[in-house]
Amino acid sequence: MYTMERHLQDRDRVGVHDAVLLEDFQSEDVFVENLQKRFNENVIYTYIGQVLISVNPYKEINIYGPKDVKAYDGKHFFEVPPHVFAITDTSYRALKEEQIEQCILISGESGSGKTEASKKVLQYIAEVTDHKGEVERVKNKLLVSNPVLEAFGNAKTNRNDNSSRFGKYMDIQFNTEGNPQGGNILNYLLEKSRVISQVKGERNFHIFYQLLSGADEELLNKLSLRKSPESYYFLTHGDKSNVENINDQKNFREVTEALSTLDFTEKEQHDMFSIVAAILHLGNIGFVEHEAGKAKVSKSEAVEIVAKLMGCDEAELREALTHKTIETVRDLVTSPLNRELAVYARDALAKAVYDRLFSWLVSRINDSLQSGSKRKNVVIGILDIYGFEIFERNSFEQLCINFCNEKLHQLFIDLTLKSEQEEYMKEGIKWEKIEYFDNSIILELIEEKHKGLIAYMDEECLRPGDPNDTTLINKFNTYLSGHNHYISHKKASIKVQKTMGRDEFLIIHYAGHVTYNVKTFIEKNNDLLFRDLKEAMSNSSNSILNTVFTKSEVLNKKRPDTAITKFKNSLNNLMGILRDKEPAYIRCIKPNDIKKSGMFDEDLVKHQVRYLGLMENLRVRRAGFAYRRVYEQFLHRYKCLSEETWPNYRKGSAKDGVQALVKSLGYTDGDYQMGKTKIFIRHPKTLFDTEDAFQER
Ligand code: ADP
Ligand code: MG
Repeated sequence: MYTMERHLQDRDRVGVHDAVLLEDFQSEDVFVENLQKRFNENVIYTYIGQVLISVNPYKEINIYGPKDVKAYDGKHFFEVPPHVFAITDTSYRALKEEQIEQCILISGESGSGKTEASKKVLQYIAEVTDHKGEVERVKNKLLVSNPVLEAFGNAKTNRNDNSSRFGKYMDIQFNTEGNPQGGNILNYLLEKSRVISQVKGERNFHIFYQLLSGADEELLNKLSLRKSPESYYFLTHGDKSNVENINDQKNFREVTEALSTLDFTEKEQHDMFSIVAAILHLGNIGFVEHEAGKAKVSKSEAVEIVAKLMGCDEAELREALTHKTIETVRDLVTSPLNRELAVYARDALAKAVYDRLFSWLVSRINDSLQSGSKRKNVVIGILDIYGFEIFERNSFEQLCINFCNEKLHQLFIDLTLKSEQEEYMKEGIKWEKIEYFDNSIILELIEEKHKGLIAYMDEECLRPGDPNDTTLINKFNTYLSGHNHYISHKKASIKVQKTMGRDEFLIIHYAGHVTYNVKTFIEKNNDLLFRDLKEAMSNSSNSILNTVFTKSEVLNKKRPDTAITKFKNSLNNLMGILRDKEPAYIRCIKPNDIKKSGMFDEDLVKHQVRYLGLMENLRVRRAGFAYRRVYEQFLHRYKCLSEETWPNYRKGSAKDGVQALVKSLGYTDGDYQMGKTKIFIRHPKTLFDTEDAFQER
């Protein structure tokens, strides 16, 4: 028999399943200790109310099998221990039974387990829905889209052997019976700089290595490829081409099979791999300057191969790599590039081609995922996107990523508080407004029209003359220093100033202080590809290249949006999509920095707890009524605690029974409120010890 004594022992060992049950809910130490206890017992999931916290175990835990799926299928959230399946099931039921659109937002730093969690969500949905005909076919496509996107969008980094280098939002579309009908994927900000260089110990995108080790002799010949990664300049920077736990050859087979499942034609596949190979060869093109200021291609052979693979005219490509044409009021003026600029142009081409190939891939997968049926559908969205980043050195990419996280944090605050308050209202409960830090002031600093950091950056990028990183930081310092969350070198305290360069600025984000180095901001934001190269690409006979580089782009006189403005627009669009849905949250935590199982680095975890805003989340949850339950369920569960209600309450409604029960437990008026359908309890007491016994049994 499961006794109270046994339960209390268990709780000492495994901790509590929901952090709202912690006696001292203000203490970060207590919170983290609870996670650690559970982690040590291989219990990786914990709740804060409805938010799921997941700590990466870095080892296989046997909790995702068919038996586990069954254990969660159709169960009430509170009847089963915390699990990603419970979160998914709750969203799925609300969608199916009430037709309310859902989104599952997964956040956490690199290597914390976001992508794995998103796969479990998909796995669960695939398993609990129909296994017949068209539904099965659609689900299969949804599932195999992962290996394809990961091949092109993931890479080995020092933090994660399979790190997603892009943000991903995926809609799964359901019919009214709750069966998947199709899907749609949105991709965000691929880290394209990885195509041309990688830091020590890291790799380029998986697909390059997969192609080299997985392609057969015939394909390698067609693409003029050699098997060894060392033959390609773009693969030599990170100096770690083979990784123990990555099987490139096997993964390549999986990718090509997935492409067929997604209805990619032979020709499309051929055109894709030609581009991948062309990028490798492009990196091997070198330049010399026989005549000062005039770059010439040094290895003719490489250009020849690239032109062949890209379906371009060799002379046109060679010319485009070493010249630039500018459009003046009257005509076009072409001038030669020096060696440095030619290298720059080559790299820009490699990045642009890969980036656009990736976007093409996503839209092509979307075509294949389109539901054939015209019937109305409802969706569950899954967001797997980079978490807050604070590195030694933070650049343009970190600014974009952290901006994105500010947006998501705002949404989180809005939706959590909003839904709390709405529920209190619906149930007719009196409550006090909860105080919390509102990060809209930081968003204002970044994105305010005409006066925000983005506006000044764009203004500088588009300014005639010689805009550069120094003029940019001067502009920031002049116009933004008045803002409380912007710290210039000059404004910084002596202590901070010592750690900051004159080309750096600091933003006080909701999650912490981040110092950004402004070097390369202008270049990255402008994201220029010389006109000549665009033109060469648009003339290509490769069906993908001539789709993603259009003639009209070359002729268009209007400047395209800058990188950060494009990103801002896509984020705002995403927020619109998410705002319309009922959210569920999965917050992922990485227990250590060395990808090791069984190791829990307290400081590292605390840091993440802080910038995921978990303590604040807990505070909000506890500030109102930490616990609520529908009367019938509550009575059923706790009736054994009082003679008034045991074995059954017969004197009135479930609500009356609950009233009698809590009175006999000694609850006073301040402790709880009776809503229309639910009881709300302010602070959990002995009751929850009993509940824990139910939960962890
Ligand atoms: P992120 O997407 O947050 O960067 P991933 O989801 O790619 O992180 O996880 C990194 C690695 O951690 C995975 O490749 C896997 O080895 C391990 N991992 C993550 N979640 C789990 C889990 N639930 N169970 C076992 N291993 C996991
Ligand atoms: Mg990932």
